[in-house]
Amino acid sequence: MPIRHFDPSFTWERTPILQYKEDVGTHFKDITRQLLYEGSENIPCQLRYFEILSGGYSTLEMHEHIHVVMIMRGSGTMLLDEKIITIAAFDCIEIPSRSWHQLRATSPEPLGFLCVVSCVRDTPILPTQNDIAHLKTVVQVSSFLRV
Ligand code: MN
Repeated sequence: MPIRHFDPSFTWERTPILQYKEDVGTHFKDITRQLLYEGSENIPCQLRYFEILSGGYSTLEMHEHIHVVMIMRGSGTMLLDEKIITIAAFDCIEIPSRSWHQLRATSPEPLGFLCVVSCVRDTPILPTQNDIAHLKTVVQVSSFLRV
C-alpha cells in the first residue's frame, strides 16, 4: 500500500508506535517512534516520526550521519552543537555530522517531528563526563543541561 492515512492523533495506518522504555537518569525520556518509510535501494533513507511528551527529551548524542528534522507539532528547545535554539511547528533543522544534539519538549502539547536518516549509519556516541564538562562551559548550554 503506497499510502498510510494520517489520524489526527498523530498516528498513521499500519504503523506501530514504538515506545521507548523510560529510565530516569539515562539519556532519554517519554519518546515514541513511528517508522513511516523504511528505505529502499532507490532512496536509502528512513522517515521516522518521533514524539516527545511535555517535559521529555531525546538522547544527547552525536554521530557521523546527519539528520534532517521537521517539527510537526508543539514546541521546545534544542541543543545543537554548542547553541540552544527554539523550535516550533514546521521549522526544518539540519543536524550536521558530529554535532551534539538533544531536543526537549517544553509546550503542553507533545513535540512531534519527522526525522530523515540514512539506512546505513554509525552508532550514536554518548557524551563522556569530559564532553559534558566542556558543553557546560557555554552558559546557555549549561542551563539547558541543568533542566
Ligand atoms: Mn541523532
